[in-house]
Parts: sequence; structure tokens; C-alpha cells
Amino acid sequence: MNFLITGAAGFLGAALANQLARQGHQVRGLDDLSTGNPNALSPDVLFTRGDVNDRPKLWTLLQEVDCVYHLAARVSVPESILYPREYNAVNVGGTVSLMEAMRDVGVRRVVFISSGAVYGDQEDQPLSVDKTPHPQSPYAVSKLAAEYYVRTIGDLWGIESVSLRVFNAYGPGQRLPPSHPPVIPNFLRQAVRGGTLVVHDQGIQTRDYVFVDDVVRAMIAAATAPDISHSIINICSGTETSIRELVRLVKEITDSRSEVIYNQQTDPGVSRMCADLSEAKEKLGYQPQIMLKEGLRLTLERDPIFHREAPAQPVTR
Ligand code: NAD
Repeated sequence: MNFLITGAAGFLGAALANQLARQGHQVRGLDDLSTGNPNALSPDVLFTRGDVNDRPKLWTLLQEVDCVYHLAARVSVPESILYPREYNAVNVGGTVSLMEAMRDVGVRRVVFISSGAVYGDQEDQPLSVDKTPHPQSPYAVSKLAAEYYVRTIGDLWGIESVSLRVFNAYGPGQRLPPSHPPVIPNFLRQAVRGGTLVVHDQGIQTRDYVFVDDVVRAMIAAATAPDISHSIINICSGTETSIRELVRLVKEITDSRSEVIYNQQTDPGVSRMCADLSEAKEKLGYQPQIMLKEGLRLTLERDPIFHREAPAQPVTR
């Protein structure tokens, strides 16, 4: 098949692009490299640097494409609180531009990568797709708005659409930005280097962590699964893990004696996140294969960032 992946040089985009290319598909990737790394892509992926709002570029890239994976986005919740206009322009505006270009060229299916963040704080767990979303950040609002645009424009122009609400994905290749790094690579790096693990609040908040290979399996299934147009599907492990438990596992697999600090001043985010897997099982034949402890071990083993030397300490006289 012929695929276009937006956000192809990002963490999930590159993992998907490389796997599709390994399977012998024709894969084009688009990314503006605002955070992505083109070196993560296999030479078999035809990469173009560009903005997802650039429709002339999209028209060219969409020629003869069967299915589009839309991952290009700004992805930091705290950053979205500071810059909501930018998040709206890229995550919502970019989605509308892409859908317009798909309408113009004619593409059979779009798989939109949404987020479990759209649910917000909910009493009842696990989170099933029929729960009314309570987005609590501009990032979450932008993903929910994009879901509606994908579905509505898709309906109007006969483009099959499916939204995958991915929960906390982790694995080798995940970026570690200096501010607000994702919790798993941050804890792993700190533990490997003997640094302190800083936990927000008391660490009793829970998340549903899903390994990148499982996410890629689900994304690939969504390109060809029959009768899934209109679907919203949770992509998750279906297992709820507290930050305290994550700390315990990270320390165990790294054999680390790192100190753990509980910072009561920081916002722990939503209190619980555990997703319901039923739709993914039924519609994609999806079953998570890598549970957290094994996923942490694979991340540590496969990602070179955990094997580099810690920066030298400044010499004090
Ligand atoms: P990422 O930041 O590694 O990937 C996003 C990519 O989009 C980057 O390579 C970036 O350069 C690119 N991009 C940003 N703005 C662009 C623009 N205007 N035009 C073209 N490219 C642009 O993040 P990721 O974790 O790989 O996330 C990929 C997608 O999955 C995002 O849509 C994100 O919302 C979604 N998602 C991720 C997770 C997760 O845990 N990683 C969870 C839920 C949903």
C-alpha cells in the first residue's frame, strides 16, 4: 500500500514509518522538524520537510496515497497552556488543511492519532469511548476538535476516518526535552545516572502506559481493518499503574539507589487514567503484548540515550 505519515520524524511517526517500510509498503513522511529527527527514519522512507498546513505540498505528497496517518502535532500539555493559539493553529488548523487536501486529491482512509488526554478527570474507570470527554488543556481540546474535523470532513467527502486515542506511549526513540520531559524516559535516565527521581505530589496518580511496538501494531491494523470508519478506539495497555509503582519498577530494572522526592507543590494532573480495550480488541484484533516491566527493560536496552556517559561534573576548587 501507499502511505503518507504526517509527523513522520517524531517518536511514534518514525516507529510507524520504519515498520511499514520494513513490511514492503511505499511510505512518504512529512514533518517540519520542529521537534522531529529525520535521522530516526530508515532510508526506505521518502521524507519531505514541510508544514502540515502547506496544502500545495500536501497535494503533491498525497498523489496515489491509499491511507494517511496524521500524527503531526504539538504535543506538550504544559506548553499548550502557555501557547494555546499555536496549538490550535497546528493541531486543529493543520488537521483541517490536511483533510481539505485529502478531499481535493481523493484518499480512501485517514487514521488520526488522538489522545487519551481528551477524557480528562473521570470518576469511572476504565475509560470507555462512550464517556463524555472533559478535556482540561488546550492540547486536549485541540485533539478532540481535530477528531470532530476528521470525522465530519471525512463524512462529507467519502473519506473513511478513524481516531485512535493513544494513552501514555513510551519506548525507545522518545524525545527527552529539557523542560517537562515525559515521565518514563526521564525516570529511566535519572535512575541510570544516579540522579533524583522527582514525583509530582504523592505519586498516587495513575496512568495507562503503552509500549511503542503495541501502538505501532494498532496503527497498522487501523489502515486495513474493515468497517471501522467513524470509530474512536482507545490504544492502551488496559493496565493502571501509579507513579509510585512506576518508580519501583524503574529502580528495580536499573538496579538504582536513586533518591525519590515527592514534590507536593506540583500539579499531579488527572488522578486516574486506565483505558478500556474492548473496541481495540473487537475492531483491530489488538491485544497489548508488552507489559510495563518488559517495556521498560526494552526501552533501556534499545535506546542509546541511556548508555551515554553522564555529563562531567564541573570541577569545584
Ligand atoms: P513527537 O513530538 O515526537 O511527534 C510529533 C511530530 O510532529 C514531530 O516530529 C514534529 O516535528 C511534527 N510536527 C509538529 N508540528 C508540525 C507541523 N506544523 N507540520 C509538520 N510536522 C509537525 O510526538 P509523538 O509522541 O510521536 O506524538 C505523535 C502523535 O501522537 C501526536 O499527534 C500526539 O498528539 C499523539 N499522541 C502521542 C502520545 C504519546 O504518549 N507519545 C499519546 C497520545 C497521543
